Amino acid sequence: MELPFAESYKIKMVETIKKSTREDREKWIKEANYNLFNLKSEQVFIDLLTDSGTGAMSDKQWSAMMIGDESYAGATSYYKLKNQIKELLGFEYFLPTHQGRAAENVLFSALITEGDIIPGNTHFDTTKGHIEFRKAKAIDCTIDEAFDTEIDHPFKGNVNLEKLEKTIQEHTPEKIPFIVLTVTCNSSGGQPVSIENMKGIRKIADKYNIPVIYDSARFAENAYFIKIREKGCENKTIKEIVKEMYSYADGMTMSSKKDAIVNMGGFIGLKSEEIFKKATMFNIIFEGYITYGGMSGRDMNALAQGLDEGTEFDYLETRINQVAYLGQRLTNFGIPVQKPYGGHAIFVDAKKFLPNLPKEEFVAQTLAVELYLEAGIRGVEIGALLADRDPETRENRYPALELLRLAIPRRVYTNNHMDVIAVALKNVFDKKNQITKGLKIVDEAPIMRHFTVELERI
Ligand SMILES: *Cc1c(COP(=O)(O)O)cnc(C)c1O
Repeated sequence: MELPFAESYKIKMVETIKKSTREDREKWIKEANYNLFNLKSEQVFIDLLTDSGTGAMSDKQWSAMMIGDESYAGATSYYKLKNQIKELLGFEYFLPTHQGRAAENVLFSALITEGDIIPGNTHFDTTKGHIEFRKAKAIDCTIDEAFDTEIDHPFKGNVNLEKLEKTIQEHTPEKIPFIVLTVTCNSSGGQPVSIENMKGIRKIADKYNIPVIYDSARFAENAYFIKIREKGCENKTIKEIVKEMYSYADGMTMSSKKDAIVNMGGFIGLKSEEIFKKATMFNIIFEGYITYGGMSGRDMNALAQGLDEGTEFDYLETRINQVAYLGQRLTNFGIPVQKPYGGHAIFVDAKKFLPNLPKEEFVAQTLAVELYLEAGIRGVEIGALLADRDPETRENRYPALELLRLAIPRRVYTNNHMDVIAVALKNVFDKKNQITKGLKIVDEAPIMRHFTVELERI
């Protein structure tokens, strides 16, 4: 008999989580203005809001923290991390930052001027925020297949190379300070980019002399998908694939809170000394001195160790299998989810789940609220709230997809939790015809409104 699959780790420390009643949750979600970001974590039983900074560190990471060097300048922890980044990713130059958006803030301050165009695959919200804040424009060149949840394409994060080249020609290369490639592509469903596509982007970038920056939060999960899905890569190690991925990049911004399995941290990796020097100035102003940039020495130690663990095959197989396990259970219940299953999350197609709700009533947010009420599970909307308003017309933008993202924290929940999530969503699915009214906005911020928006039931 073939042995069943089991996690490649065991548990050394546990944290209690609390159940609640539907009555409690009705009261709490109303007090939270139907915005799940406003809930207290104690009001949540299974928290799938994000996989960012919510992972469980290993015994080796915790022990690395004990020998952190907290020197202001030249700490051993800085050099440990610098060497790890050089060895694993191939970047000669690096700047630590307190998280991913800080890396964007620093690097974009050095590279973007008003009126610039930044093409790429679907830009993450903070990336887009930092581009639009500088009065520049993000242009999405993702392949069309990404916007149909039913199509089973192995690399839905890929860039449409023709569209990319057309965008460059139309706006002229001088207007384009860099191309951004998000691996895996968070906003289109945690979908990977192939090595072949990276090579194609590199070729176009070289032709027009434009740098390529990888938005790298989930680069290791991307490498895992390359290994299991891309011809010619099946016998390479994850670390070899990672090295190859970055051989086609000029730089990277990283949110270490994802694939590097730490609770806080980020960095910039660069090949060009010239860009590094420009960015260094902004790092010192915004983040801190070059050798700590918003991170303590102990956190840099844990990050260096996390980068190593996060790029091990056995760990990635455990993680991605757990996400797929949840996806499969939902599929078996007939619930419409994005396929193939993403690396860090399952994305429920809310428009297909609740076909009777108009897009103006925030379909995915309504579904997120219903799932919370059902079982205290907190997911997050990836839909019209997140898409925000057009910066010029101030009209609401309605994206092609309304998704409920169920992000799975790394090394945190068991498959019993996945079973609870699947059954809770099935219970909501069984009552979907009774859900005929959505939500409306009462108050919103001018940029990145989804974090603080206040809603009420229609
Ligand atoms: C999380 C994330 C960021 C921003 O990183 P933070 O650490 O949350 O600031 C940027 N890009 C992508 C693709 C991300 O997933």
